Amino acid sequence: MTKQTAIPTGIDLREEIDRLRKERNAVILAHYYQKPELQDLADFVGDSLELSKKAAETDADVIAFCGVKFMADTAKILSPEKIVVLPDMDAGCSLEDSCPPDKFRAFRERHPDHIALTYINCSTEVKALSDVIVTSSSAETILSQIPADQKIIFGPDRHLGGYLNRKFNREMLLWPGVCIVHEAFSERELLKLKAEHPEAPIAAHPECPPHIIDHADYVGSTSGILNFAKTFPGDTLIVATEPHIIHQMEKALPEKNFIGAPGADGNCNCNICPYMALNNLEKLYLCLRDLEPRIEIEENLRVAAKKSLDKMLELAAGTIGKGDLGRV
Ligand code: SF4
Repeated sequence: MTKQTAIPTGIDLREEIDRLRKERNAVILAHYYQKPELQDLADFVGDSLELSKKAAETDADVIAFCGVKFMADTAKILSPEKIVVLPDMDAGCSLEDSCPPDKFRAFRERHPDHIALTYINCSTEVKALSDVIVTSSSAETILSQIPADQKIIFGPDRHLGGYLNRKFNREMLLWPGVCIVHEAFSERELLKLKAEHPEAPIAAHPECPPHIIDHADYVGSTSGILNFAKTFPGDTLIVATEPHIIHQMEKALPEKNFIGAPGADGNCNCNICPYMALNNLEKLYLCLRDLEPRIEIEENLRVAAKKSLDKMLELAAGTIGKGDLGRV
């Protein structure tokens, strides 16, 4: 039987989402890059690491993940007994797309003396082929625990890997993937904006290319940028990451001015993540109502992927001593 996907006319979507959230014993997680209306009704808003931890800890029966597919996959890997739904199953990621598992496996096989430190923005298959997963908020903590002589493959984001190489004086082999959103910032337009606001610091995500990072006063994950926004002494901040994060900044600090870094067209519209933008209130309502689209992962694959995620959660929490990564 074809599933009924029409939304009844005249319903209040927010009220219905609330009703379904209680009825399903569901938790709604939203990434900082989601539309403000999704962030505002989520039980928890965070970055990839925070959302991963939340997914592992929650006692809800259903996780509705307002984010992209690799994030919902991560929730399912960590909470296999729960139903995990994603409002739009086409919400992918250019980094995940850049790293097909068969090519990644072949790359690993060509470098048998390297461990694979892999950014969480990848498929479940690539996680299963990796030794340790990192997020942008945990990457520095984790890399600093890996012995200096340990050879490392870092994928799929070459900009994050390059940033880490420069900062830690490492020579990790980099997979050539990029985030299409952070890649789109324009150095020329950023410098024009900076000239208009010379007193404003620039906060950038490490997925940005080096010609953007080089101008940044602060480089960090979405949570790190948010914390910087709450503590910097001035009144204007230029934000070089997906602009929906500015919603949380404006809520926390309505008296301050947050400006999204521009793309080549001089505004920040080209820096809206087209995958994150696929989710909306209507699709969230439908996925809570129908419990579809649902994330399903074959058990052996899930267990293999969980190993590298568990390693991340342990190392990010500092519960494993230095040197442990040499044995992964
Ligand atoms: S912002 Fe970039 S890294 Fe994040 S989901 Fe979108 S394409 Fe992927």
